[in-house]
Amino acid sequence: MIKNNTAKVLKVEYFTERVYEITLERNDLPFKVGMALSIVGPDGKTVRSFSLSSGLHEDEFRMLIKEIPGGKLSPWLGQMKPGDEVQFRGPFGPFRPGDHGGDPFCYIATGTGITPLLSHFHSHPERPPARLLYGVRHVREAVFFDTLSGWCPTTLCVSGEDPPEGHHRGRVTDILDTLPLEAPMHYDLCGLDDMIFDVRDWLMERGVEKDRIHHEVFFRAPRKLPPLPPKKPPTHGA
Ligand SMILES: Cc1cc2nc3c(=O)[nH]c(=O)nc-3n(C[C@H](O)[C@H](O)[C@H](O)COP(=O)(O)OP(=O)(O)OC[C@H]3O[C@@H](n4cnc5c(N)ncnc54)[C@H](O)[C@@H]3O)c2cc1C
Repeated sequence: MIKNNTAKVLKVEYFTERVYEITLERNDLPFKVGMALSIVGPDGKTVRSFSLSSGLHEDEFRMLIKEIPGGKLSPWLGQMKPGDEVQFRGPFGPFRPGDHGGDPFCYIATGTGITPLLSHFHSHPERPPARLLYGVRHVREAVFFDTLSGWCPTTLCVSGEDPPEGHHRGRVTDILDTLPLEAPMHYDLCGLDDMIFDVRDWLMERGVEKDRIHHEVFFRAPRKLPPLPPKKPPTHGA
């Protein structure tokens, strides 16, 4: 049976009506950039993963979370108060953004998919990505945009309203042809499944090898299956 860890909540801060950061005690637990905690919900059974945004040398765990209305965990976690206790498993997970043996990398995120890059930023500020494409629906959801755009060449892609001057109105997938494609560039993709698979396919169609494309899928949208063809009437021999 997997043993749960327990940590006290230190802080919850909402940046928008739906996006918040929760800070927990770290209790000296080791982790690597890109890892996540699996938080155990109030029923003791439901578990959801959240990537760490804090740095390797900090003595706290932070996670940047989008509250999903009606969701089992994200609204509950956002209502935690300092001193409350949270049960979790981990840190764990294979995603290692920015860790490509010294090779340069581009980071492409939608929404809170920016979280693992924040952990890299706090851990290795001397190794910024060559490009960051950061997709959000509304400008206010682009948390830490000022910090990140001051650190690396960043294009904000805003699908639901006009972006700040010099940025893109639309999706990250509209401007993939602005990415540097030559080896040894790596690509770290994080967020929703549609974006990740579209970017991965686009890169592979342009000859980027699979082992230079890395991803962490936060959410897989349920797919509607095409309707089954009508059943043929049974044939009873001639
Ligand atoms: C490795 C990993 C790391 C992750 N890291 C983060 C992170 O750093 N920050 C973060 O905010 N999330 C992260 N997630 C997503 C997170 O684990 C949850 O899936 C999310 O918070 C929803 O959980 P919930 O219990 O609130 O909603 P649920 O009860 O799971 O879902 C409620 C309803 O909303 C739908 N839904 C769930 N998620 C989404 C979504 N993102 N968009 C649209 N509809 C959705 C579901 O299909 C369901 O119908 C990560 C996921 C993985 C696998």
